[in-house]
Amino acid sequence: LTDKLEAIFKKLKGRGILKEEDVDSALKEIRIALLEADVNFKVVKSFIERVRHKAIGKEILESLSPAQQVIKIVYDELCELLGGSTAKIQLSPNPPTVIMMVGLHGSGKTTTSAKLARIFKKQGRRPMLVAADLQRPAAIEQLVTLGKQIDVTVFHSYEIKNPVELCKEALKKAVIDRMDPVIVDTAGRMHVDEELMQELQDVKEILKPHEVLFVADAMTGQDAVNIAKSFNEKIGITGVILTKMDGDARGGAALSIKEVTGKPIKLIGTGEKLDALEEFHPDRMANRILGMGDILTLIEQAQKAYDQKEAEKLKKKIEKEEFTFEDLKDQIRKMRKMGPLENILSMLPGANKILKEIKIDEKEFVKVEAIINSMTPEERRNPKILNASRRIRIAKGSGTTVTDVNRLIKQFNEMKKMMKQLKHGKGFKLPKIFPF
Ligand code: GDP
Repeated sequence: LTDKLEAIFKKLKGRGILKEEDVDSALKEIRIALLEADVNFKVVKSFIERVRHKAIGKEILESLSPAQQVIKIVYDELCELLGGSTAKIQLSPNPPTVIMMVGLHGSGKTTTSAKLARIFKKQGRRPMLVAADLQRPAAIEQLVTLGKQIDVTVFHSYEIKNPVELCKEALKKAVIDRMDPVIVDTAGRMHVDEELMQELQDVKEILKPHEVLFVADAMTGQDAVNIAKSFNEKIGITGVILTKMDGDARGGAALSIKEVTGKPIKLIGTGEKLDALEEFHPDRMANRILGMGDILTLIEQAQKAYDQKEAEKLKKKIEKEEFTFEDLKDQIRKMRKMGPLENILSMLPGANKILKEIKIDEKEFVKVEAIINSMTPEERRNPKILNASRRIRIAKGSGTTVTDVNRLIKQFNEMKKMMKQLKHGKGFKLPKIFPF
């Protein structure tokens, strides 16, 4: 999906002005890319409609190129699709918090229960695991083994055959021993069946859980989404944990599950080891899917730093050849507001290579600002009056050398010459902050 989207945006980047046809043909390709990534077709349809609506009715920001704007819209919508903001596990103010884990066999339910307990333990809580999958003795043993590895109590019994009974006992024990939270690993099946759903409903009635987390294997794509839907309808879930996100899942499950079930992905499993469970961040995931490095962060920062009206003013100044040292200082300050230059560059895809080759000296900017600060307002507006004695004064005042001052004045004059050429050339445009 990432490769496909990257190719689509590359095509858009060549366009100066984005026409409706361009947006439509890009959207057609995005639609195919999403379907190929196994995203639910209804989800794809409404996604494309939303992006189209925004892309076409959009007021054009001059500091961003049309391609950047489309990328931003697609990104925003991807974030929404993935749940918007990070959804946390809700802990009850009246302990113990009860978390019921549900899902099919092989989804990673037992492993994930242990991973979750490990996180709570690290936070200094006293989690308790409950082995309520009584269908298979092996499941009890598996949880007991995992509990030992993370030093967490596992409530279990080989005698009690009824999961409802077992859960009742477990809750009593948790209250007496002040264990919190209580994480219940329930029975799974190969497929969704009535008997399982009934058992889970009964267990849920006793547990009155604060969270019912549906565990799904991300690799199973749309199956995971459909199963989540039926678990939600029959039992009612509060969130989803997608496991095996370290594998080559195509992303379809992650992109569809929130829209289809209305329940957010709360955590993701990223490996077999017990420390491989992470909070799910829709924004980071959208970023990864778009494969744009951190370019989106950059676009957002640019939007913040660059005010449209000011950009217009600057453009007029350049056209009228009125660009001064004062303006240069202002521009440098704005750029630096976006963070250290090295960070800005490293956010551009492929920039690592460039960074290795050139060394950016942040101190240079400090020097430039100091030199400009040491000029009088008159000198900033009219650099022609900068004679030798003024230059010596500025060098002293800014703690630099006359060579530094000379170099800056020379660079400034060259810059103005370049601007003049631009102005006389065809199609004068404000230089874009990024080269695409
Ligand atoms: P259950 O039947 O749902 O309880 O599933 P298990 O917890 O036994 O997990 C099934 C298999 O998936 C085991 O081999 C786990 O190690 C593996 N597994 C679980 N979560 C992840 C994950 O996030 N990444 C990877 N690579 N494997 C996982």
